Amino acid sequence: MDGGELPQLTIRILPPEVSVLIAAGEVVERPASVVKELIENSLDAGASQVSIEVRQGGLSLIRVTDNGKGIPSGDLALAVHRYATSKVTLAQDLARITTLGFRGEALPSIAAVADVEMLSRPADAVAATYLRLLDGNPVEQGTRGAPVGTTVTVLHLFAKQPARRKFMRSPSAENQQIASLVSQYALAYPEARFSLRLEGRQGLLTSGSGKLADAVVSVYGAEVAAAMLPMRWPLDGERTTMKVSGMAGPPHISRASRGYVSLFVNRRWVQNRRLIFAVEEAYSGLLTTGRHPIAIVDLRLPHEEVDVNVHPTKAEVRFRQEKEAFATVQRAVRQALLEQAPVPSLPSAAGAAVAQPTAPEETPPLWQRALEAEGQSKTAAGTAAPPPKVSLPMLRVVGQIGNTYIVAEGPEGIYLIDQHAAHERVLFEEIRAARQRRALDAQGLLEPAIVEVSPQQKEIILAYYEALSDHGFQLEPFGERTYLVRAIPAVLTGTDLSRAFAEFVDTLSEEAAPDQQDRVAFSLACHAAVRAGQSLTLEEMRELIRRLEQAEVPHTCPHGRPTMIHMSTALLEKEFRRR
Ligand code: ADP
Ligand code: MG
Repeated sequence: MDGGELPQLTIRILPPEVSVLIAAGEVVERPASVVKELIENSLDAGASQVSIEVRQGGLSLIRVTDNGKGIPSGDLALAVHRYATSKVTLAQDLARITTLGFRGEALPSIAAVADVEMLSRPADAVAATYLRLLDGNPVEQGTRGAPVGTTVTVLHLFAKQPARRKFMRSPSAENQQIASLVSQYALAYPEARFSLRLEGRQGLLTSGSGKLADAVVSVYGAEVAAAMLPMRWPLDGERTTMKVSGMAGPPHISRASRGYVSLFVNRRWVQNRRLIFAVEEAYSGLLTTGRHPIAIVDLRLPHEEVDVNVHPTKAEVRFRQEKEAFATVQRAVRQALLEQAPVPSLPSAAGAAVAQPTAPEETPPLWQRALEAEGQSKTAAGTAAPPPKVSLPMLRVVGQIGNTYIVAEGPEGIYLIDQHAAHERVLFEEIRAARQRRALDAQGLLEPAIVEVSPQQKEIILAYYEALSDHGFQLEPFGERTYLVRAIPAVLTGTDLSRAFAEFVDTLSEEAAPDQQDRVAFSLACHAAVRAGQSLTLEEMRELIRRLEQAEVPHTCPHGRPTMIHMSTALLEKEFRRR
């Protein structure tokens, strides 16, 4: 066999115990996911009290008790079946989901990766029904005295999934995730009384008074709560189907991380980068670089305007009118800020940043600062402490110019991004990181490609043989100056190999990186990156920018050219003589 033939495999439908494990992998990523699903069930059941108890970061015990409407005894066993739900009956219901749950996947998924005990009593029952599951199978059922409501106890999470367990961080890190998650629900549902006990200690306790301000006191403390500015949108007379309420923190209580923007869409806690960016945008000019707001944003719109059936964890949503949702959130936050904290009265630190823009010639350009951060360039003064990492703000793609440059807007103005240089940077860092983790993807070729090389190229290949194979090239000598290529790095998939390979080898010797491994990564990035002159869709540009935001040194390409030019809001205002 010459690699061309593949063994014939039979297609089979997976047995339920396997398919449920696959679903569980998505729904139950970590202990906090279990807590999330159980809280959502409690809230869907109309609970006004939800108590959560966690031991060993959730790996030994998670228990959620509520006073909701309970599960009828005859339904208890059904509730842990895959796709068993009381919340959706018809396909058209999916277009109008009003509950937090609807997939009927949570309880069976949890039961697949943990031992579960359920205890539930509806209001009209005299006692509670009890059900114990081991490996997803009921092993014990009975009746017990208990108050109205439901208690779900999850024991020994991931005990039989050593791979998952290995990915868990310390109990205290998992507890932090859980605390932050419960805080989100406490802010979304101020009318419910939440109690969180972590390792026996009271973590969070809310009053359930129904007032957002009270929930904010429990989560962020009295001082923050007192400073928060209430939000209300639309203003009188505006006609819109989208409403925003919540609270925006004034600029002087900003935070160093982005994790303090809580977003709820129709009472569902969501993580949506674009909406978070909309909130941050509303603060543009009010916060100094690197500072992020505290905000609680509750967006309500007709249920049919938003699709929540995007991902098993239900934390993503899609809007029918995304732009309008974005603009509404931004206006609502901005309005609250301007109405109640007019710009001139801002504390001097934030005010100064707005009032005295740094003249462009006083500071070296961004890419130069980034180069210094990476240690590739020396400046006159640059001998003492290394400059801090220059990170990229969240950018919103506006469009493409000359099929070469991406125009983006960020909190501090306009960014012009060279698509090839940016993509090179992104790929280079991704390739290097994957290589260090020994997780570089190779693409096996069904038909090995035969490439002819020049003597010089042959020398280069011999010199770089190890680095090439570390990056996914599987090369076999095939005669004097011919190689069989059996596999290539996955990033090169789809390129015309017979031509690209020779070119690739040539560039290797020209790369300036000090070591062979990095030179291969440089060349790979350069070959796989989009070219100038290639038209990109908005989606592709956003994806590129999103990955660039993750890069360690986003402002230069691996060769040290800038990936972007920045025109600050201050500069624009100065040039247009707005002040
Ligand atoms: P979903 O929430 O998507 O319907 P789940 O697997 O989370 O799926 O739950 C299955 C069903 O079990 C729910 O539809 C609901 O009828 C019932 N249930 C689960 N938890 C509770 C609870 N705490 N109180 C009342 N009913 C519950
Ligand atoms: Mg559910």
